[in-house]
Amino acid sequence: MSLWIINGNVWNEETGRTEKKHLRVNEGKIAELVDGSASIDTGSAEVINADGKLVSAGFIDMHVHLRDPGFEHKEDIITGSRSAAKGGFTTIACMPNTRPVIDKPETVKYVLDKAAEAGIVKVLPYAAITKNELGRELTDFAALKEAGAIGFTDDGVGVQNAQMMKNAMALAKSLDIPVIAHCEDDTLVEGAWASEGAFSRKHGLKGIPNESEAIHVGRDVLLAEATGVHYHVCHVSTEQSVRLIRLAKSVGIKVTAEVCPHHLILSDEDIPGLDDANWKMNPPLRTPRDVQAVIEGLEDGTLDMIVTDHAPHSAEEKGRGVDLAPFGIVGFETAFPLLYTKFVETGKWTLGFLLQRMTSDPARVFRLETGNLVQGAPADLTIVDLDNEREVDPATFLSKSNNTPFGGWKLKGWPVVTIVDGKIVWTE
Ligand SMILES: [Zn+2]
Repeated sequence: MSLWIINGNVWNEETGRTEKKHLRVNEGKIAELVDGSASIDTGSAEVINADGKLVSAGFIDMHVHLRDPGFEHKEDIITGSRSAAKGGFTTIACMPNTRPVIDKPETVKYVLDKAAEAGIVKVLPYAAITKNELGRELTDFAALKEAGAIGFTDDGVGVQNAQMMKNAMALAKSLDIPVIAHCEDDTLVEGAWASEGAFSRKHGLKGIPNESEAIHVGRDVLLAEATGVHYHVCHVSTEQSVRLIRLAKSVGIKVTAEVCPHHLILSDEDIPGLDDANWKMNPPLRTPRDVQAVIEGLEDGTLDMIVTDHAPHSAEEKGRGVDLAPFGIVGFETAFPLLYTKFVETGKWTLGFLLQRMTSDPARVFRLETGNLVQGAPADLTIVDLDNEREVDPATFLSKSNNTPFGGWKLKGWPVVTIVDGKIVWTE
């Protein structure tokens, strides 16, 4: 089946502007991109008129929690996929801290089969580094890779034992697959939930120090150097981590890294108080100085991509009080509008800079065949209304959960149509 997306605005990196184009999709691929002034015969094809809208390669999110299997009251593969599609995402990579943990080939297969059955977005599963994410025994990397795992991570917790991490990296290197690390030294965190900073001091809380993250980054880049593995750092939140990754890259260590919208936009000083657990996430919101450092890290290429760390939790769980509530916030349905409004509308970034960090950069780092708006590429596309301004209304989320600190924010840049392999998977 053929589809024309006509009159859309496509970013041109060379000119630094969007240009009007018509785009034809055929058999799931981008068949051609023609100049917007050309007259075209759409024939019997389906037509989407994207006049005045941005047409981008579909967004890619390499760090999400779909909670399935085991925590389907928070989210499942189908609702998570719908939520992703609504946010303009066409490819998402899901973390293995489910129940059971994704540490066996049959669990990888379960995720892939359910995602395929849903037929919404492309779901790429990570598998755990250690069995049950307990840090004691490595999983069967070869069998998990064979089943379809795209990388190894114990996300949710840090791998505490350096020898275990080194063994994991050596094994991953031999299989040509990346190790993805949630960096957190447990001994420096114990019981704290907020970052060490103005907020924790004001409320007399034990704070999480920046070193708790950066100490693992420092350890792991050395292990990556020793083993030669592709090492990817999750949700970088501190100045010290940025500094270490920058240094590691400068000496040729194969390290890449990601940052979340909330760490680019919010600091601990924005947390309104102790009543709302939707400001509780891991890593925590850091100081304004750290926010500035991760922005600079993204701008100079130290950090490679933006991910949401979409982490749904039920209202009941988030309502247990800030000490007992689980860490995490949902991210799919606010990511692009937040970043567009805060960084592109304000003139800090070009639209192209933001789009690359959400499309071609994750594709490059993880060697995905999608992520570029070029002829012959999979027709994974997002159409965005950049002008319409509206408030974030968590009640309208397609996610099963609505744990966000961004409710009521007025934002522009809302996705209106999402297309995966040429099929419309979401439309407003
Ligand atoms: Zn994590």
